[in-house]
Amino acid sequence: MDINILLLELAKELRSGEVSVSELCNRCKERASKLNSLNALVTTTFEQAEKHALESNQRIQSGNARHILDGIPFAVKDNFSTKGIRTTCASKILQNYIPAYTATVVEKLEECGAILMGKANLDEFAMGSGCTDSIFGPTRNPWLYPYKEREVTGQRSDTQEVQDTDWFISGGSSGGSAVAVATGMVLGALGSDTGGSTRMPASICGVVGLKPTYGLSSRHGLIPLVNSVDVPGVLSKTVDDAAVILGAMCGADPLDSTTVSLPDQSFQLPDEIDIKGLKVGIPQEYHSPRLEEEVLQSWSKAADLFENAGAKVIPVSLPHTQYSIACYSVLCAVEVASNMARYDGIEFGHRSQDHSSTEALYAASRHEGFNQVVRGRIFAGNFFLLRRNYKEFFQHAQKLRRLITRDFNEAFQEVDILLTPTTECESLTYAEYRQEDNRTHCETLDVYTQPSNLAGVPALSLPSYLSSKGLPIGLQMIAPCFQDKKLLTVAKWLEQQVAFPMNILHSQIESFLLGR
Ligand code: GLN
Repeated sequence: MDINILLLELAKELRSGEVSVSELCNRCKERASKLNSLNALVTTTFEQAEKHALESNQRIQSGNARHILDGIPFAVKDNFSTKGIRTTCASKILQNYIPAYTATVVEKLEECGAILMGKANLDEFAMGSGCTDSIFGPTRNPWLYPYKEREVTGQRSDTQEVQDTDWFISGGSSGGSAVAVATGMVLGALGSDTGGSTRMPASICGVVGLKPTYGLSSRHGLIPLVNSVDVPGVLSKTVDDAAVILGAMCGADPLDSTTVSLPDQSFQLPDEIDIKGLKVGIPQEYHSPRLEEEVLQSWSKAADLFENAGAKVIPVSLPHTQYSIACYSVLCAVEVASNMARYDGIEFGHRSQDHSSTEALYAASRHEGFNQVVRGRIFAGNFFLLRRNYKEFFQHAQKLRRLITRDFNEAFQEVDILLTPTTECESLTYAEYRQEDNRTHCETLDVYTQPSNLAGVPALSLPSYLSSKGLPIGLQMIAPCFQDKKLLTVAKWLEQQVAFPMNILHSQIESFLLGR
């Protein structure tokens, strides 16, 4: 069995009996264990998966497969609640939290027969762009990772000291999910996307990252970062795979009043795609000063591919782009201040030993339970919400958000889709990344991804080219609200054209696994 083939191909092999679901799950489990030093999964659910694999295999063999995803191993970022399975948000405060219910999107995938293999690493409470700020330690990018020299021990601790710093970061906050998919520990994974957390790690780990339209899939059970912006995202090897997963998890949910169902929820994409006459917009403001030369070249090459195939490539303007990061920082902190209030050390989560007074218990539990990034955002959020600041910061940011959304709406009067880079640069080494703090990284790494979150529009990062160093460069496509299918179709077309060399990573991993 070749685990590097596509989800859709594997589904066929499962049906023809060429491979059983248990064999497939065992292969994934073996990979997850052997590639443990990448630190992608923070909790594994192998025993439960084994049981589900047997049931799924029986269904498939008797011709009663529930869905194309029946028997397909997947992972979920550890900020989606999973009943009976520890859900930590990579934080001390929820280190031993076991939810009593499962997030709707996870439940939907499980109802299709998909098999949960584990929970994936993230930046604490999804706040970050590196997958480096986790109590479990950072997740490492599999590209250019010096596999052989690393001791694979499987040991981790909350206070893990990172000794080696020469490997590349996986990006965040959904780095664990991106790495699990890139390395074949699973065939698909869920991430969450508030400012780019699905697309950004996808881009630098060489996989597809989809942020659907806000409201297309349920946030119920996704532990919130910014409720008005959070979207459950998909990480997969191909655009077709992302479309299948989106089809399985989308739709109105009575438990999330912001969700809607589309009249056509099948995202099956055509094989022959004609993009003649398609209008592709190039936002001029995305030519930012820090944009790296090789990323710019990739962007131009892709634009040329569109033009040569008969699409019209048109410069467009999104004039309020420059305010997006500031606007997001205020709205994020404000919602964080409110969301994090529930963690008081009394009802659930970490409780401090300092019981000298109720106030002291709250303060100490929260101080011990949250990292500095989370505490900083709570602090800033409460500051922005003070009566004297509310208008100047919160209301102002909301107005700006409206203008940013209007920019997209106006651009989509002229074009069908936008083409941009996903990040300004390829991945950085951990040593380089550590030179700046979380806030600075969010200000730089999220510039291209964040505006579409504020506008709620769907966006996708496609692995497109390899840099001269040998690291993936992703390109982003953005579509109008609820045109997710169009977005996926255009992305599939570009995927066919660029033929990203994922096989380079596959063979590197294969030879490591075979001990060569
Ligand atoms: N980097 C951004 C932040 O830290 C976005 C994170 C996300 O999308 N979850 O807030």
